[in-house]
Amino acid sequence: MKARKILIIEDEEDILALIHYNLTREGYQPTGAMTGEEGLAAARNQRPDLILLDLMLPGIDGIEVCRRLRAAPETADVPIIMLTAKGEEADIIRGLEVGADDYMTKPFGSHVLLARIKSVLRRAGRSVEGEQEKPLEFTGLMIHPGRNEVLVDGAATELTFSEFKLLYFLARRPGWVFTRSQIVDAVHGQDYPVTDRSVDVLVVGLRKKLGKRGRVIETVRGIGYRFSDS
Ligand code: CA
Repeated sequence: MKARKILIIEDEEDILALIHYNLTREGYQPTGAMTGEEGLAAARNQRPDLILLDLMLPGIDGIEVCRRLRAAPETADVPIIMLTAKGEEADIIRGLEVGADDYMTKPFGSHVLLARIKSVLRRAGRSVEGEQEKPLEFTGLMIHPGRNEVLVDGAATELTFSEFKLLYFLARRPGWVFTRSQIVDAVHGQDYPVTDRSVDVLVVGLRKKLGKRGRVIETVRGIGYRFSDS
């Protein structure tokens, strides 16, 4: 298989060098960029399979880089993992909302990073479109989008329309973190007012109805929610 190209946009030289070293050792083909401008140019020219994007960059910051990557047709679909520092929750939320796929909080070990890269690349290869009406199956949980039906350990479970939409939205992309505002958009549409509380209340109700399978809806502190089937 052809080596996957990974672009690392990171202004801290030590971190960049370390990630570069670890990715090379794993058989990836990494390249580095130390500013947002450089990173955008590299993304355009090299067409990487995945981008690791530091949020705190001199000049154009990571959020803006992410927004521009998503806006350009040639980089609109490249998976992006943001690299963030502790306490940057507000930026993580903004990043996810302008289209980043995932994030990692520094410092992180190379094993964790490599696992995350693998999982994001795997997810990226799987099309969500065209799977519209296919039932989703997980341990003890079956979701039939065509029939708006959920089976918990084989038993049909009554969900409200909003609860069903929430569950299906998260379950289509296991492992992805969604912010509350992304969840509200998916469940109620773009113009619905977002209140953290309304999403949290919805999640509490859904978890309750799913019983012991309710654990699949994980709270990501300070950020939002994700579906986890592991
Ligand atoms: Ca930085």
